[in-house]
Amino acid sequence: MNLKKVSINTALPGKPRARILIIYTGGTFGMSYDKEGVLTPFSFEYILDQLPTLKNLALAITAVSFETPIDSSNINPEHWQLISSVIFDQYDQHDGFVVLHGTDTMAYTASALSFMLDGLNKPVIFTGAQLPISEPRSDARENLITALDIASAREQDDPIVPEVCIYFDYELLRGNRSKKVESMQFDAFDSGNYPPLAKAGVKIDYNFSVIRTPSRTTTLNLRATFETNIAILKLFPGINKNVVSAVLNTPGLKAVILETYGSGNAPTLSWLLEQLSAAIERGVIIVNISQCPGGRVVQGRYETSKGLQQIGVISGADMTTEAAVTKLMLLIGEYGSSNAKTMIGISLAGELTA
Ligand code: ASP
Repeated sequence: MNLKKVSINTALPGKPRARILIIYTGGTFGMSYDKEGVLTPFSFEYILDQLPTLKNLALAITAVSFETPIDSSNINPEHWQLISSVIFDQYDQHDGFVVLHGTDTMAYTASALSFMLDGLNKPVIFTGAQLPISEPRSDARENLITALDIASAREQDDPIVPEVCIYFDYELLRGNRSKKVESMQFDAFDSGNYPPLAKAGVKIDYNFSVIRTPSRTTTLNLRATFETNIAILKLFPGINKNVVSAVLNTPGLKAVILETYGSGNAPTLSWLLEQLSAAIERGVIIVNISQCPGGRVVQGRYETSKGLQQIGVISGADMTTEAAVTKLMLLIGEYGSSNAKTMIGISLAGELTA
């Protein structure tokens, strides 16, 4: 997996407002139709042809691109390592970062990067599009131009948004609180458990009270080791004992996200509690995440979650599945299971409300 540098001739009349690095990974944003009418990723130079105004934003823009741009359904932790290492290496040379990424797994990548870039004090803004930039009605142009604006926005010398975010369809969301919720309309993302950090209209209205404050003292530290032996087990009425057993007894399994109902409830079937309890005894971390996009897990509120609490299932509070999966993979990879078990319930990058 390689990156290539793309030169953008920003004919700046004066001093640039900010130095921004764009990382182009692929996604519908830059796709075009092949001979069979199937959307496939295209190279970044093509985007420049479609959006010449990029050259006139009073920004010093540098761009790097995946050598072979990809549909984000093909993203894996190695791509997260690549994206985060570019940001880490280029951190001092830039004021902000814009990552162009397919929408399908954008919430996973944004969540992963929020945990990997420990001590981040600059904007890392993800965006993409529901329609390729070559389409007349495409949302790509607005999404990119406003993402660049947000990545370069400063107040009293500090970046306004020193966090990993998703900007899409006029809303700025915290990355590790976001979910893809729509595949046909333009409003592809939502963060049911956290207010938007900004809304873009004629002006960009920042909701300062919910944006993390930059710390002048922290330095950027990169965490990049992932443990991928984890599973998501989504409950449904009628779930089968053998299926649950097969998942929980997977050789090498380190952790399971148990996707429960409502505020963290599960059927009170004795075989289910026994199997979960046996897995916990074997050292598997089990985290309770609700299937509801809004609200939070409160184990013990109902009888149907009391048993989970008693056997040692960890409450995921109001984390999204995307945040919980990436956080678990990174914490186990970096610090080992027993540390991960205590750290999973602590907010590392604003992903949960304790
Ligand atoms: N399949 C595309 C991707 O995630 C969808 C998109 O970009 O909107 O790469």
